Amino acid sequence: MEPRPNPTKVRTRFAPSPTGSLHIGGARTALFAWAFARHHGGCFVLRVEDTDLERSTPEATRAILDGMAWLGLEADEGPYFQSKRGERYRDVIASMLRAGTAYPCYASGGELDALREAQRREGLKPRYDGRWRPEQAAGRRAPEGVAPTVRFRNPDTGVVTWDDMVKGRISIANAELDDLVIARSDGSPTYNFCVVVDDLDMQISHVIRGDDHVNNTPRQINILRALGGVEPVYGHLPMIHGPDGQKLSKRHGAVSVTEYHTLGYLPDAVVNYLARLGWSHGDEEIFSREAFVAWFDGSCLAHSPAQLDFDKLRWVNQHYLRLAGADDLLVDLEARLKTRGLLLQSLHSHAVRGALELFRDRVATLEELCDWFVCLLRDPALEDESVRQGLARALVPQTAATADHFVRKLDAIIASESPESTVAGSEASWNAAVAGQILKEALAAHGARMPWLAVPLRLWCFGRAQTPAVEEMLALLAPSVVAQRVRAGLAGLQAPAAG
Ligand code: GLU
Repeated sequence: MEPRPNPTKVRTRFAPSPTGSLHIGGARTALFAWAFARHHGGCFVLRVEDTDLERSTPEATRAILDGMAWLGLEADEGPYFQSKRGERYRDVIASMLRAGTAYPCYASGGELDALREAQRREGLKPRYDGRWRPEQAAGRRAPEGVAPTVRFRNPDTGVVTWDDMVKGRISIANAELDDLVIARSDGSPTYNFCVVVDDLDMQISHVIRGDDHVNNTPRQINILRALGGVEPVYGHLPMIHGPDGQKLSKRHGAVSVTEYHTLGYLPDAVVNYLARLGWSHGDEEIFSREAFVAWFDGSCLAHSPAQLDFDKLRWVNQHYLRLAGADDLLVDLEARLKTRGLLLQSLHSHAVRGALELFRDRVATLEELCDWFVCLLRDPALEDESVRQGLARALVPQTAATADHFVRKLDAIIASESPESTVAGSEASWNAAVAGQILKEALAAHGARMPWLAVPLRLWCFGRAQTPAVEEMLALLAPSVVAQRVRAGLAGLQAPAAG
């Protein structure tokens, strides 16, 4: 059987159920459906499958829409909401009842449980036995006061076959499928039914979705055919697994797109990374959205599950961080610092630019970049275990006198500056060269070696034993702040060791 795409135009859809935030697997599905539509100059539809009123929430819908917007996956149509299409579903069910492709079923829950139990005892696969199919129910009266469900009358014989974009030809015998409930006894339509009506009404030509839906596909194709529809081409994407090859779950780390934002990944990096999860174009690893769209024709899709690899994501992110404009990075940084109660503006503007250039090549995420700025903006916690251990390793007998010498030199610089200056004020009197110079003078005066002073200074001023060149770092702070932090460190040397 040849796939018979809707002849008009390529139309794909992303159809999330709003029961949680946008999952990374869902985002990948959305990306592929979006790129395929873009590749063909088609239309990408967003449809919110919110028929499960108990599990769907407006917050989840918002989170999904926000996640899509953050990734830059703009829909050409929608969002449509299934919850607003109830009338249409009811009309279709009524027309199917009239056409005989569906029928009312009066079997009670208890009756069906008993049926399943009996089948199980006989070693049979539990399935509805068609007891209310019109020909079997002929002459039987509908029980009083029982609201029926509506069942689709599945074909008895033959096979449903489709050529899956990802998995190749799949055939399922109709004998394997039973008569699906399409409307519950309260009249509400069921999931598989709504999907079919929507795919039909929205003229979807290609259904690209997770392979957890493969089992639904033959049922959906049968209903679609009963409605006189032309079935779309289906493509079922293998799951995304965690780095250990297991089903992706919270314990693997970030699973929702929002978390990737929080962790400091750039949307372009996430899109680039996701594109390579289950799809390839030769050896290409880093490519723009435009290149992806140009290449993504539905071929080269992987048959087996993709595995999340956070190291690789970090590597891709690093690439995009290098490309990012300084102003964009600063806008992001400002927001991140604000959530930590800090103001970027507390640093002098030339220190901000200098810090950005110094740190951006050393980090893999925006959050790590933010961490470096926090080192500048907040006095380090000298009582932290890592600082104490670092100091224990770095301190030598000459450190205190050398640091004292250094801080006195700083005092002279501070005295020459305006008394209110708490930020790195004049670049002329305080910069990396000046800091380097007074460091050298202090070392020379005490016959000390650079690490004996540089490592304690790093720990006292930034809380880290490893930083970019210490004079570059110190120059980012106002000299008065450096002096105050070094003095606090020196005071700690005199205090009796805690604990
Ligand atoms: N709403 C389904 C889900 O979130 C997707 C249905 C489909 O793509 O057909 O898993």
